[in-house]
Order: sequence, then C-alpha cells, then structure tokens
Amino acid sequence: MEEKLLELRSVGYSYHTMQGETPALHNINFTVHKGEFLAIVGPSGCGKSTLLSLLCGLLEPEHGSILLYGQKLYQKSAGNIGYMLQHDHLFEWRTILQNVLLGPEIAGKLTPARREAVEQMLKTYGLYKFKDARPSQLSGGMRQRAALVRTLALEPEILLLDEPFSALDYQTRLTVGDDIGSIIKKEHKTAILVTHDLSEAVSLGSRVIVLTARPGTIKNIINIKFPEYLTPLQRRNAPEFKDYFNQLWKEMNEHE
Ligand code: ADP
Ligand code: MG
Repeated sequence: MEEKLLELRSVGYSYHTMQGETPALHNINFTVHKGEFLAIVGPSGCGKSTLLSLLCGLLEPEHGSILLYGQKLYQKSAGNIGYMLQHDHLFEWRTILQNVLLGPEIAGKLTPARREAVEQMLKTYGLYKFKDARPSQLSGGMRQRAALVRTLALEPEILLLDEPFSALDYQTRLTVGDDIGSIIKKEHKTAILVTHDLSEAVSLGSRVIVLTARPGTIKNIINIKFPEYLTPLQRRNAPEFKDYFNQLWKEMNEHE
C-alpha cells in the first residue's frame, strides 16, 4: 500500500460576507497517496479553488480536518506544498532566472546547490537559453513551464495546480499539459490538478474526483488506468480515453 500523504475528513467551508453566507464545500472526504496524480473536476463555482486554498493552508476548514502525514495541516507545514495558478504571475521586472529563484530567495533557501538544481531544471525543460529574457519575451507555453520550474524550485512534495492551462490556446495547452505531466512524473511529485476540462483530467490523472455544483460535494471518484508508459498526449489516442471521457461527461451532466 502506498503511503498516505493527505487525508481530508468531512471537510466543509463557507464564505461569510456582508451579503451573507456562501457554502462552498460540504462533507469532502478523500485520501491522496504519494506519487499520485489526482484530478478534480466540477462545474464553475463549485468550490475547486477553495479546496486548493484549504489544501495549501491559505484557508482553514470550517468543518472537519485535513491531515498531512497524519498530522493536522497548519500554515507552517504548507512549505511542503507548492501552488501553481491559472495565470503564471511571472514578474516582468525580473529575468526568467530571477523569477524561478524567487521562492528559494524569499524563503532564505537559495544555497549554491539549490541554484544549481534550478538551473539544471531550466536546461532540462528547454528554458536555459531564455534565462536572461523577460517573461514577455516568452511564448505562453514557455511561461507556463517557467512557472512550473519556479514552483518546483521550492522542492514541494505536493503540487497544487489550479487550471494551469486555461489561459493557453488549445494547441499549446495540449503540449504544455503533456510537458507538465511528464515533468511532474520525472520529478516524482504528487500532484492535484483542478480543471473544468474533462479531457485534461483523463489525460493526466490517475484518479478523478467529480464534484457537484456548489456547495461542492463528492459525486464520484473514478480510477483512471492506462499503460504506464503512455504520455498524456498518447493517452488521448488510446481506446480507453473516450470511455473515461464519456463516463465523466455523464457524471457531470446528470442531476439528481
Ligand atoms: P471554482 O474554483 O470551482 O470555480 P471557487 O472555489 O472559486 O469555485 O468558489 C466557490 C464559491 O464560493 C463560488 O460561488 C464563489 O462565488 C464563492 N467565493 C469564492 N471566493 C469567495 C470570497 N472570497 N468571498 C465570498 N465568496 C467567495
Ligand atoms: Mg477556480
């Protein structure tokens, strides 16, 4: 049995504003194992981003608890968790190298070894010759890869990805999705990807959690099995792909 990394027990969360209460998530239970690529799908506004904010300690559950290695998740333990957002948030006033080193720099962890590891990642992922360029000089796909390297630079155990490809055009999102899926596998990370794109979930995930409309609850959890050696792009052409897609589509479109 693989090691339990994260465990959510009856997690619930509501936003409280002047207009009143907005229940965002209700009774969420699941476990994430080491090395897993978990995809989370659900309709817009169902609480997906809220869930990631809870997982990285940005928000605290109102009900239930979240355990990391069996210990209650506190803000200070969130260093194990890297968060990558929809927009890459690269700083234009810094070069690519300065951008990807920002995390370790702020955390006071910019050792020579760390710097070398980050430069090596830029080389491996085809960004090294752009290390002195500004973000605006890079294509959307390269920026997204740079954002991933920046997130990996902090050596997180778990990567949280919030619709990271949705700002890209279709062709680019296919290749960047493939890239990022392979990078995460190669670096032996555990990843949780939130998306509203069912194809993306099937091409990248080892499991897909389907959430209901707000307040998000778990509608179903689907295991995705493809031959191990297939890349995300190759999965899209495998015969099982459309069966999983149709199953998810049905889950998303049936209302009780
Ligand atoms: P998703 O990422 O699935 O689109 P979110 O987690 O962003 O959904 O939001 C879930 C619900 O909570 C939505 O109805 C949204 O309007 C509401 N919400 C999100 N953030 C806030 C906030 N800061 N204050 C009040 N309501 C919020
Ligand atoms: Mg969102």
